[in-house]
Amino acid sequence: MSGSLTVVGLGPGNPDQMTPEARDAVTAAEDFYGYIPYIDRLNLRPDQRRHASDNREELDRARAALEMAAGGGKVCVVSGGDPGVFAMAAAVCEAIDEGPAQWRDIELVVVPGITAMLAVAARAGAPLGHDFCAISLSNNLKPWSVIEKRLVAASTAGFVMAFYNPISKARPHQLGEAFDLLRQHLPGTVPVIFGRAAGRPDERMRVVSLAEAQGEMADMATCVIVGTSETRLVERSGRPPIVYSPRYFKEKSESEAGGA
Ligand code: SAH
Repeated sequence: MSGSLTVVGLGPGNPDQMTPEARDAVTAAEDFYGYIPYIDRLNLRPDQRRHASDNREELDRARAALEMAAGGGKVCVVSGGDPGVFAMAAAVCEAIDEGPAQWRDIELVVVPGITAMLAVAARAGAPLGHDFCAISLSNNLKPWSVIEKRLVAASTAGFVMAFYNPISKARPHQLGEAFDLLRQHLPGTVPVIFGRAAGRPDERMRVVSLAEAQGEMADMATCVIVGTSETRLVERSGRPPIVYSPRYFKEKSESEAGGA
């Protein structure tokens, strides 16, 4: 008999930002699969089993979890933030798509969570108040040339961009290269938010202009939000600035747009 597999998003790190639905799913499960620090965030009971693994083994982890569920287990796969945003839900779907037919009989539930860009945006004001997109800067699963193409397309189309996986030890220069590329297409005044470890004790928020933005301002725990020329910075004395993207789009007059 097939069991169940629940893919749960734990939120950005603050226990208050984990949903009651996610908590209930954790209480109900028996076997847990996930990256070690995420499993460590759960206060598991002695009867709940941990199958923690390294971050790079997502597809193997998904297959192991499906194998356990196919044998009748009540299995939980955990992700930080939302499990559907650059995380385990897609790995599980991919494994089912390519796996044995009986894996399709497993009861699959995906429990959403607060994704990093929402936690960071909330700290800054409302930078995602108008159209936006999310881009992973990791080239582990796609070529850097594709990432560059998407950066140019999104910035020139007027999307606010949230960058996940902005930098790593293996990719120390790419975020700096991304900023150089964006400076060719966007004004230097565009606000850039570096939101590190949002919702955790070591949280750090920083807002600079695109002209000042450097790759070294981020690490792997940072979500970077790059505004558009519409995004506004409201300075406040004694408080960090508010960053927001207005809900309306101001049509440029012909003289502003440089038209004839
Ligand atoms: N599923 C996760 C994202 C996984 S990709 C989610 O929905 O949030 C990992 C990337 O997420 C990190 O490199 C970083 O860019 C971002 N991230 C995860 N947690 C974060 C946090 N608390 N604060 C800022 N960025 C975070």
